[in-house]
Amino acid sequence: MKLEDELAEERELLLEGNRSLKERAQAGNKKRRQEVRSKLILLNSAIALIVIMSVLIFKVATVNRDNEKKVRSASTTESDKSIQKKSKGEKKDSKGKATSTPLPEKEVPAAGKDRWLRKDLDKNKPMVALTFDDGPYTPVTKKILAALKKHDQRATFFWVCNRIPRYESAVKQAYDQGCQIASHTFEHVILTKLKKKKSILNQIDKADREVNKVIGCDTTALRPPGGAINEKVKKTVNVPMICWNVDSEDWKSRNTNKILQRCKSVSDGDIILMHDLYPTTAKAVEKLVPQLKKKGFQMVTIDELFYYKNIKLKPGTVYFSGK
Ligand SMILES: [Zn+2]
Repeated sequence: MKLEDELAEERELLLEGNRSLKERAQAGNKKRRQEVRSKLILLNSAIALIVIMSVLIFKVATVNRDNEKKVRSASTTESDKSIQKKSKGEKKDSKGKATSTPLPEKEVPAAGKDRWLRKDLDKNKPMVALTFDDGPYTPVTKKILAALKKHDQRATFFWVCNRIPRYESAVKQAYDQGCQIASHTFEHVILTKLKKKKSILNQIDKADREVNKVIGCDTTALRPPGGAINEKVKKTVNVPMICWNVDSEDWKSRNTNKILQRCKSVSDGDIILMHDLYPTTAKAVEKLVPQLKKKGFQMVTIDELFYYKNIKLKPGTVYFSGK
């Protein structure tokens, strides 16, 4: 009996143990399920949160972009308007310019003939042509040009054209100021001493080539060096030959007052001979130009003088004045 009881008790204990193990296992399972569930819930809510956040960020971004677009389109319209306004203004300006003021200097046709013949001078006012031989020589030529520019007057330069490359800036400046560029041959040759016609023409052609390189056109007048002209020269030369009727003798005196004295009795149509080689000549010109202007003279180019005096310049013909 005792043994049976003991066995029963043991069985009972085992059963109990089994039950408790079962219960424990069940409890463990339940706990694990609960943990998994809560983890799932957490994961789900995290996903939901991420989705919500993404949607929100996207919406904010879209709104911002829209706003930016609006701002940009608004500003573009403004700038467009201002551009339109500006272009309208410019149109007005360019219209105004076209009607009221002449084109800028550089847009004037390059042809010298047109350039050194102003058509708006007063033909009833006295005219005088200042002419300068033997240059260019920048230190003197530019002083003469400055004096002419200061008083809005013009002159003619009969240049020894093999000197042009060396003093190119003075040549350009003279041309820009509307002064006439004329020829004094290529190398100051006394044309009457040349035996061949070809040699005479060569002096003129070579001179024009140098002028052309700088200003893009030929000369329209020649002053033969020393004023030396004979029949052969007349028959050969294909441009008018321009001499002078007032000799300043600036090369001889090299004295400003004496030069001015020589030009004291200048009258309408005169052609004055000077040389842009001597500083004393430049100083004389600085005084002579305002003096003549005060007396009512217009200082003109050779082409202008003969144009306004109704004298048609012919090739191979010699002229001493516009009288
Ligand atoms: Zn000379």
